Amino acid sequence: MNELLDLYQDIILEHNKRPRNKGLPDPADATAEGLNPVCGDEISVGIQLRDGVIQALGFEGQGCAISTASASLMTEQVKGKNKAQAKEEIKRVMKMLSEEEPTGEEIGLDTWGELAALQGVRRFPARIKCATLAWHALDAALDGKSEVTTE
Ligand code: ZN
Repeated sequence: MNELLDLYQDIILEHNKRPRNKGLPDPADATAEGLNPVCGDEISVGIQLRDGVIQALGFEGQGCAISTASASLMTEQVKGKNKAQAKEEIKRVMKMLSEEEPTGEEIGLDTWGELAALQGVRRFPARIKCATLAWHALDAALDGKSEVTTE
């Protein structure tokens, strides 16, 4: 189990060091800024839609390692998905992060891919808002809102 946690930590650190899809798409069809006052994270997410599909997306801003890594993982996860599918992904990750004791589905690299690494954050309740921030921002952008806060 500890080895697995180390692996998850490595994924987070790697995405923080080399974030994927850094920078907003130009032009962006929708952009939303997410604020997490507790930690001081500020992450903007921009999406480019074609026929309802997220063709391109990216993020920018200043955040801690967890918020940056989560944003990076998110962009990889929802790229190429349509709005409904992206909403499902948001719901799935929010639910996973909010459950103290995971019920039902086992969350492993085989089923969740690198996103499984985010479950390590559950052990640090104060950091959960860091992990959900980019997902909140994406959710807001999909709804046409320009700002969202975790408070
Ligand atoms: Zn943070």
